[in-house]
Amino acid sequence: MLIGVPKEIKNHEYRVGMTPAAVREVIAHGHQVIVETNAGGAIDLTDDAYRAAGATIVDAAEEVFAKADMVVKVKEPQPNECRMLREGQVLFTYLHLAPDPQQAKLLQESGCIAIAYETVTDARGGLPLLAPMSEVAGRMAIQAGARALEKSAGGRGTLLGGVPGVPSGKVVVLGGGVVGLNAAKMAMGLEAEVVVLDKSHARLKELDMHYGGRMQTIYSTNDAVEEYVTQADLVVGAVLVPGANAPKLVNRPMLSKMQKGSVVVDVAIDQGGCFETSKPTTHADPIYIVDDVVHYCVANMPGGVARTSTFALNNVTLPFTVALADKGWREALSDDAHLRNGLNVAHGKITHGAVAEALGTDY
Ligand code: NAD
Repeated sequence: MLIGVPKEIKNHEYRVGMTPAAVREVIAHGHQVIVETNAGGAIDLTDDAYRAAGATIVDAAEEVFAKADMVVKVKEPQPNECRMLREGQVLFTYLHLAPDPQQAKLLQESGCIAIAYETVTDARGGLPLLAPMSEVAGRMAIQAGARALEKSAGGRGTLLGGVPGVPSGKVVVLGGGVVGLNAAKMAMGLEAEVVVLDKSHARLKELDMHYGGRMQTIYSTNDAVEEYVTQADLVVGAVLVPGANAPKLVNRPMLSKMQKGSVVVDVAIDQGGCFETSKPTTHADPIYIVDDVVHYCVANMPGGVARTSTFALNNVTLPFTVALADKGWREALSDDAHLRNGLNVAHGKITHGAVAEALGTDY
């Protein structure tokens, strides 16, 4: 199979669909790879590195889309990319189609086979191709929060780890899932005081079993949220209610009781955020202040560490890329029900129930 990797064109997107190591792997399986020139240049994955892995470098995205049997990307295709897709061509990438009827229509019109990273499942009911981005965002939340706590950013001037003779900062994590756990681990690593609140008893038990003693686990009620948030130096918003907007756990009156110069990092902003005062920000202008509380609400945090994110994403997509290339999409999907859940569009039809429902279309 000929696999094509175009350069991402979404604003400030520096990740790339395949690393040179992933390219070498599929070539070892007898496939060929074409990569658009400078596809990974921004994160120091050079054309020479791709050539050394066995890829052929081509000058333009048009050539990648025209020649490839399967296109491997990171972000959803932009309208001009959708128009380059063709009948029967496989597209393997993040799609996030539910809120994007224009993209859905263009993919349907192309006749392509679009497999979305975000709806591929695993045996434990998780979303394995989303998890690495949550790991990245959770870990990054603490470094973004620590930076925002500095005076120059409007913060309280608190060092999360404290120093001998001076207490550590208090980090409160709302939601102890993938983002929350990774944020908590980073905060514990910095020797901050860490409290995690969650609604799931099973999750609290699991966290307590692994980290009890180094981390407080608290059942999430309005009372508990108010008590811990108002004492915190840094609050990380990491709740998720699947298929719904994030619950607003911290309203404006509660926020106004927080300490002057404390920081909220609302990772759940991509689902609307769990602070009433959250609004999406960008890496170029990540923070703003409401009621003396510094807010960091970047909606695509992993994009800020595009190199790490690219490797993390490739680690989980590669086995599926290899299966799709080795077997062809029909056999790969019929052999693996979890990969089959990734199929969103095929030959002009929406093929995923939840996506069809969200788009209000036939399934
Ligand atoms: P997850 O499903 O692993 O964890 C969510 C946790 O929230 C669960 O443990 C759940 O029990 C808990 N929860 C639900 N309601 C709660 C409540 N009322 N109080 C306390 N806890 C509650 O999800 P995740 O992968 O950790 O993702 C968390 C959020 O981060 C999602 O909205 C996700 O889209 C977002 N995210 C954002 C970025 C970004 O760049 N901003 C990147 C990755 C993930």
